[in-house]
Amino acid sequence: MEWLKKRILEEGVVLSEQVLNLDAVLNHQVDPELMMEVGRQFAERFSAEPITKVITIESSGIPPAMATAYALGVPLIFARRKKTLGLEGESWCERVPSFTKGIVTDIVVSRKFLNENDNVLIIDDIIANGDAARGLIRIIEKSGAELAGLGVVVEKTFQAGARTIRELGIRVESLVGIADLSGGTICWSD
Ligand code: 5GP
Repeated sequence: MEWLKKRILEEGVVLSEQVLNLDAVLNHQVDPELMMEVGRQFAERFSAEPITKVITIESSGIPPAMATAYALGVPLIFARRKKTLGLEGESWCERVPSFTKGIVTDIVVSRKFLNENDNVLIIDDIIANGDAARGLIRIIEKSGAELAGLGVVVEKTFQAGARTIRELGIRVESLVGIADLSGGTICWSD
């Protein structure tokens, strides 16, 4: 993944020992060619799974999830962060703390788009504590769908999220791992 590491080094900004700003690559501006390659990487890694849908949470998960769904030839579902009027009772809903905003939000997926016939791949941009991913996992469990695994573009390995999800027996694939952000520099895990 040297191409991805190079872009992150060139355009990422270390904000603190915990947070890396990737607005130029992932979270605000998106390079479509880079993102399509991200999608091809995830599609290749999960090619043996009978995936019927890709799922993520709005908004930063959408570009990598969309690229992965395109590469797999399946629909993309993005969980919405608020209840949409009229969807109560027709939706799966979970309460999730937001790592970057420091607040708790409800994530909502319509029952119309997820059911026991689905085999779902979760894709997200960055994993920190794993709250967003665990919220989606709970929604998938409620719906009766199968979970194929979780793909994240950036895994911060110094935070517990990905590890706790692997400990649940769930396959987690990350394209790059960051072991440390202290001193204002990115230290890769591999
Ligand atoms: P978690 O739920 O795993 O703690 O956090 C996941 C979400 O928080 C991701 O969807 C991501 O958008 C955001 N996030 C977590 N860590 C970082 C970070 O270091 N930088 C940025 N830009 N977003 C982050």
